[in-house]
Amino acid sequence: MVFMCQENSFLKEYTSKVLKCEPTKEPIIEYGKSTKFEGYQITLENTILFPAGGGQPHDLGWLNEVEVLQVLRKGEDALHFTKEPIEVGTFVTQKINWDRRFDHMQQHSGQHLLSAILEKDYNLPTTSWWLGCDESYVELDTISVENKTIETVEEKCNLMIRSALPVDVKICKASDPDLNKEHTKSLPKDCTDTLRIICIGDVDENMCCGTHVSNLSQLQMIKLLGYEPGKKGKTNLRFLVGNRVTKVFQSMLDREKVLVGLLKAICKGLENDGLFIFCASEEPDKTKEGQIIIQGAEEHCNILGPQVIEVLKAKGAFKNGKFQGKATDLSGINKCRKIIEDYFCKK
Ligand SMILES: [Zn+2]
Repeated sequence: MVFMCQENSFLKEYTSKVLKCEPTKEPIIEYGKSTKFEGYQITLENTILFPAGGGQPHDLGWLNEVEVLQVLRKGEDALHFTKEPIEVGTFVTQKINWDRRFDHMQQHSGQHLLSAILEKDYNLPTTSWWLGCDESYVELDTISVENKTIETVEEKCNLMIRSALPVDVKICKASDPDLNKEHTKSLPKDCTDTLRIICIGDVDENMCCGTHVSNLSQLQMIKLLGYEPGKKGKTNLRFLVGNRVTKVFQSMLDREKVLVGLLKAICKGLENDGLFIFCASEEPDKTKEGQIIIQGAEEHCNILGPQVIEVLKAKGAFKNGKFQGKATDLSGINKCRKIIEDYFCKK
């Protein structure tokens, strides 16, 4: 079945009848993370909410006021996971979380474009891809990618985005003689299914169930972030498309501002007869742990250093008037500040 979300990927509201409503305990999977769930799975006559598939995560939205927490495709049906039941036969207004959907459309169409250029120009076919909550990647059948290649591919992708090539959906039968054989080689010979081909201008044609932009200009831009080793012999080329580029750029600006402030404070601190402590937490989920540097005049370091180390539960060593090590409890930083303030006030 071709769902309404695939016929028109820009529909944000739609009314449809509830056909089935059954209890379920199937977990919710969000960007690869599974959480327990107990609720209902609702089947509608048709849906604008995309069920996860083709590497694209499921949509979120509402059926009237009832929140949809996951949409999964099972055979011909799209199952909408909700906490509350809805009576069979009810007409519901479907609404979509458009920010999330449009973000997925940008990443997914961007992936088609990126994979097409990598394959056509560099003979690097995509073996799979991943759309993550922050970043995405295409898996390539190679152990590394040259920096020059990354640079040129990014440039070419952005050139195509600027030329606003149309993105069209072609629906055809597997038996269609005009169909590019490349697309159907994995299908059984007797397949009579309806196929959905996503065409980017005359650059790419690809069989896909996902929702896509209608024009490459809607991708805004693509940014390649470099590669890292993937599964055996493979390489994951990381990328961002559209709004994600601006979002990441903004967080980099914010971080830079904080760092510049810190560095200014450090320089100022070192000019005076003070003691300087620099702490940096590295892991977002281990905020108490981090690197620590204590620097200052030897006479102060000798007295204050051991106290600070004790409070922050730090391990490391003093060398040439500087302590460098790892703290296991940065939550004591305010206590350290007090110790240092008291020390210098008394002086
Ligand atoms: Zn696709």
